[in-house]
Order: sequence, then structure tokens, then C-alpha cells
Amino acid sequence: MSNNRHFDEAYWQRRISDPDWYTELVPFAKETVASLDRQGRDQFHKKIRHFFEEELLQGRVALADAGPNLDEQRKSIDTIVIHHTSADPGYRLSYMDAVQLLNIYAPYYMNPTVREERHLKGSSIWSNHTRDGKQTFLAYHWLMRMDGSFERLLPDESLGWHAGNWDINRRSVGICLDNDYEDKDPDDALLQKLAAHIKEHYPKVTPDKIVGHCECREGTICPGNNFIAGWKPKLIEFLN
Ligand SMILES: [Zn+2]
Repeated sequence: MSNNRHFDEAYWQRRISDPDWYTELVPFAKETVASLDRQGRDQFHKKIRHFFEEELLQGRVALADAGPNLDEQRKSIDTIVIHHTSADPGYRLSYMDAVQLLNIYAPYYMNPTVREERHLKGSSIWSNHTRDGKQTFLAYHWLMRMDGSFERLLPDESLGWHAGNWDINRRSVGICLDNDYEDKDPDDALLQKLAAHIKEHYPKVTPDKIVGHCECREGTICPGNNFIAGWKPKLIEFLN
């Protein structure tokens, strides 16, 4: 595989046992991605994500045992943010854990934007969230599978790092649909089940506070190009 050139597993297997592994990985990944074409980038991302999935499962990534409790900043829930995985259905949670460690937590620890947290740079990463007895980096509260079932990823009391907008993270739950809706829409049956789930769990959230990720943060098309004009109005209609 040509992408072995770009990611030396033996090296990183040693490096991830240091608390500050991400201070090298984040700039390395950024530089590598910038030097590749689209296909090369996809291959590189896959490689690195699979590597971290396996290393997290084996408990070989240096992580903190304790750290700041940002869940203390949780507000009451008045917003629901819809996401999609932008992948084929059947997304593995262990893979998502690696993706969100790499895409959300590692860059934040690399560059803590909150002044009181600047000291975190270089220290080992801590999410304050556990799942099945292990630290987890999952950012959404729910994952909706294509059979209409919902998997609980984080309890509502946990502040999920999903919206790319801290104020919205504090007051929202993130629901991720297990599919790629960049250029297609969920069907009506699925949207009806999503509406029923929202009604059951979050009856106090008003329709104007049901938003897509793209409405919280510029530069993402999540949960898809046709969300705002196409399937969001349907979802709202099914809530009534
Ligand atoms: Zn999203």
C-alpha cells in the first residue's frame, strides 16, 4: 500500500504511549493531508482512523485518568442538532470513537481556545465521559440506525462536543443519522421515526430549535445539502 509512506505504524505505536502524542500527530496529519490529492487524503484518513480504533480498543493510547469536568457547564436542553455520519450505514462506534478523538479532542488539546485551559496543551486527553467503563470521545447523544432504532451514545447530562459551537453544545443534544445524506434525503418513514423520538424524549424543544449542524457552524454541509430546504421542513411537519 502506497500510503505506508505516509503513516509509519511502528513509529506511532511507540509515540502514542506519550501523553502528548497529539502535539506531533495533529501537525503531521495536517501537513500530510495538504500534500495529498483527494484519493490520497481519504486513504490516509482511513489508515490513521483504523490505527487509532485498534489502539484505543487495546488501551494503548495514552489518555488522562482525570481532568476538567466541562459537563459542569451543561445548561438545560432547548436545542436539537441533527448530523449525519457521511458514510455508508452500519458505522462502528469504536471507529467513531477514534474519529472524534482525532477530529475534535486532539485539535482542541493542541490549541485550547479557552484561556483557563491553555495549560492543557501537552497534557493527556480527558473527555470526562465513559461508556462501558472506558473513556469515550463520542460527541453525539444518539445514533439513529437505518432500521429506525436509536443507540444512546452519551447521557443527556453530558456535554457533547458535536456542534462546533460551544454555546450550542452546552444547551443541545446531538442526534446523528447513520448514513450519507450529502446528496440524498432520508425517506419519510425514517423522518417520522426521528420525529417520534424527539417528541418522546424532548417534548419541550420547540421546532425553531431543531437545527442542522450546518446552522451551528459555517463550513460544514452536515447533515446534507438538502436539509434546510428539503427534509428539515418535513421533520418539523411530522412533529405536529
Ligand atoms: Zn455534523
